[in-house]
Amino acid sequence: MTQIHGHFINGEMVTDEARTQAVFNPAFGEESSRVALASKATVESAIAAAEAAFPAWRNTPPLKRAQVMFRFKMLLEEHADDICALITAEHGKVLDDARGELQRGIEVVEYACGIPELLKGEHSKNAGPAIDSWSEFQPLGVVAGITPFNFPAMVPMWMFPMAIACGNTFVLKPSERDPSAPLKIAELLHEAGLPKGVFNVVNGDKLAVDTLLEDKRVQAVSFVGSTPIAEYIYATGTANGKRIQALGGAKNHAVIMPDADIDNAVSALMGAAYGSCGERCMAISVAVCVGDEVADEVVSKLENALSTLKVGPGTDLSNAMGPVITQVSLDRIRNYVAEGVSQGAKLVVDGRDLVVPGHENGYFIGGCLFDHVTPEMSIYTDEIFGPVLCVVRAKSLEEAMQLIDDHEYGNGTCLFTRDGEAARYFTDNIKVGMVGVNVPLPVPVAYHSFGGWKRSLFGDLYAYGPDAVRFYTRRKTITQRWPAGGVREKAQFAFPS
Ligand code: NAD
Repeated sequence: MTQIHGHFINGEMVTDEARTQAVFNPAFGEESSRVALASKATVESAIAAAEAAFPAWRNTPPLKRAQVMFRFKMLLEEHADDICALITAEHGKVLDDARGELQRGIEVVEYACGIPELLKGEHSKNAGPAIDSWSEFQPLGVVAGITPFNFPAMVPMWMFPMAIACGNTFVLKPSERDPSAPLKIAELLHEAGLPKGVFNVVNGDKLAVDTLLEDKRVQAVSFVGSTPIAEYIYATGTANGKRIQALGGAKNHAVIMPDADIDNAVSALMGAAYGSCGERCMAISVAVCVGDEVADEVVSKLENALSTLKVGPGTDLSNAMGPVITQVSLDRIRNYVAEGVSQGAKLVVDGRDLVVPGHENGYFIGGCLFDHVTPEMSIYTDEIFGPVLCVVRAKSLEEAMQLIDDHEYGNGTCLFTRDGEAARYFTDNIKVGMVGVNVPLPVPVAYHSFGGWKRSLFGDLYAYGPDAVRFYTRRKTITQRWPAGGVREKAQFAFPS
């Protein structure tokens, strides 16, 4: 019988099976299970459970909330193999990569364990005669998270550990393409001692998302996904009076300077462009080589490295790259490659015809490499979200930086160089939110915050790290005075100073 993934509401697995959608194992190209798509009533029941759980959770001491997070971290580590197996079966990424994603999520949980310290307010004694003033950070209430397919464990954990640690209750709407890891994580969170209703998962599509965006009980929404949807979430959510952070797509450029350690830069580019099949919002999809000599060397070394890139099912530990998520995605990537060729770029390595024996129906594509890409080509302007690296040739660092600044996205970037002055100039001036120097994937650690510039983020506050405390709380400033007993006070009509 086909397994149907339901929802996790008020501490229990529930199903509503009126509408379901197929979940695939991308390594075989086969339907492996189905996922229920929540009705409006189901989403509303999750919001109601979260609302009912809020008063008690809000008043639970932060140290007790941190203890739940600590037990949750231990359970995540204990069950890491199971969670990674679920990720690889539904997403397709290789097991090592799933392990890396889970570890990055666990690190946010570790940061959330410090919530008593992070939530401390600000206090001013004698702000006026016998007047004390302080600010405190109060939880918002019910908050929601809507997440993409490419990190089914990590991106939800960018959100809910901090939201919950701050005293909010949470409704997660994960990607309908890989629902198993978030449901497993919900179970572990409850095993860790989280009260019922504090964390809920509803699987679903646009109907579920729109219900969360419109319901007055939802105070804030964190979103991660593609830019068109991020923009929609931001516009609709803010119009409904909610606090919104919506992280979108990317086109991340790496600049390779003539003085760079080219061999190391090529190794870094291989991992950053082709790791996880390019399905990362921080993937490097453009390599800007400064000077033709650098470009010739980088292209030839990448071509060489691609000839040994092992592609196959993510369960085989010797593979570096698994399949992409769906047939639709595979077709889209192939179309972009065809467009690149017709628009005049030089296709140095063509991975389109790759067949993996025993996995003939799997959604596999080999690494693709383009040279002589120019800024008007669709392979340059659009986020392909596949294993396609575009080499652009520039004459100077300034020209390379102008390309990056002119691009609509501003998520991540990296400079490969041995020149400290160039590195300082680049990091200081580039219009991108997360910048690496000889670090191809500058994903901030859990105690910094994650976010891009331009059309890679809609909203003011970044994900996880210190910004999460600000996003998931509301500041309240209290001014308090206790007049000495018996002293008669006159009315004052001037503004208090
Ligand atoms: P997506 O935008 O298709 O889906 C994201 C979420 O939005 C899912 O939960 C989905 O169910 C929901 N959704 C989809 N269409 C919707 C609609 N019309 N109305 C309302 N909700 C809708 O993204 P995806 O394909 O799952 O993920 C890949 C994208 O996510 C890429 O663009 C990638 O760059 C981006 N991403 C960004 C970051 C970041 O931090 N900036 C991180 C990871 C992924």
